[in-house]
Amino acid sequence: MKSTATRIETFKESIFATMSKLALENKAINLSQGFPDFEGPEWIRKIAAEKIMHGSNQYAPYPGSVNLRQNLQTLYKKNYHLDYDWNSEISISVGATEAIYSIITAVVNPGDEVVVFEPFYDSYQASIIMAGGTIKPVTLKAPDFHFDENELKKAISSKTKMIIVNTPHNPTGKMFSKKELEIVAQLAIENDLYVLSDEVYEYLTFDDHKHIPIATLPQMKERTFTVSSAGKTLGLTGWKIGWVCTSATLSTKFRMVRQFTSFSVATPFQEAVAEAMNSFDTYIPEFQKQYKEKRDYFYAGLIELGFKPNKPEGTYFIMCPIENKTSKNDVDYAMELIVDKKVAAIPPSVFYAVSDEGKKYLRFCFAKKHSTLSDALTNLKSL
Ligand code: PMP
Ligand code: GLN
Repeated sequence: MKSTATRIETFKESIFATMSKLALENKAINLSQGFPDFEGPEWIRKIAAEKIMHGSNQYAPYPGSVNLRQNLQTLYKKNYHLDYDWNSEISISVGATEAIYSIITAVVNPGDEVVVFEPFYDSYQASIIMAGGTIKPVTLKAPDFHFDENELKKAISSKTKMIIVNTPHNPTGKMFSKKELEIVAQLAIENDLYVLSDEVYEYLTFDDHKHIPIATLPQMKERTFTVSSAGKTLGLTGWKIGWVCTSATLSTKFRMVRQFTSFSVATPFQEAVAEAMNSFDTYIPEFQKQYKEKRDYFYAGLIELGFKPNKPEGTYFIMCPIENKTSKNDVDYAMELIVDKKVAAIPPSVFYAVSDEGKKYLRFCFAKKHSTLSDALTNLKSL
């Protein structure tokens, strides 16, 4: 048979799928792939069941459910003073993943370059490659995962089309400060670049850390694609309801890609997410409290075991240095933990294109029941 498309030749199974599979095979506690091991809120699941039983079962409009887009308009205004018109500037997607793919497909031409901070979420690179573009990584430097402004400047060339920002950041738990976002914004404006801002953990923030969408900075709204998703916020990652807010002109381009990939997104789940958003005033503080308890518990547990983990400002991940525990790299140490200690974590070197930094860490996901985290700590104790 003739060969298949060369553009996907370098693609491998994602580290999330691989580690979850290995966890299952080795009967290990799975702190690798980012998803809760407990059900999302029953009251939200009940709404979805109602929607399925009572008529929200045909195609939604391809830009997304009107109720959901109208509620997103209200939320962006209330949370961030960002004015997006639900009809022309907000679109729904199959999770943030499809949004990322569609934005990159809509913007990047073969030969274009996209600046990405590493470690990065794996779908960015894959989507850039599928569009024929090239990734230009800028390394976030441990231990606080800051970036060097000069390195960012150097990464930008006449071929650069877009910068991708992810805050709160997977896998480091870092939240970009206003100062850092201002540097990115200034360079985006000076060089006439688009910005894709992945904010799927926007509500998963701790202590006094406040999420800042880069679109709130002067002159940034019109060049930014603000991406988010209900998966983390509702603890329902399998529903895959994501969205994109951007100018009407860019929304039209984005929608043209989605029109011919998924066309529209599961109607009852869009309607259920829309209705759940009516209760965010009470839901979000409870959600944050629940995850803060998990973060504090697991973070303290790792310290007690002699690790020196980074305290995440946001997300449900902890980046944990391993150098004081082993001479192995992240992949070998992750294998040792799965096989011998029955705990699965993500080796983060896969999230880096140039730096070796990732080999010195493991990423643990603490979106797990208290008993799961406690069992994992007990298993790790024998290290
Ligand atoms: N971006 C980041 C940074 C993520 O961690 C994830 C994974 N959940 C996604 C995007 C994809 O989100 P979704 O499940 O909504 O497609
Ligand atoms: N975002 C999740 C993580 O970082 C994984 C999502 C996926 O498996 N595609 O673990």
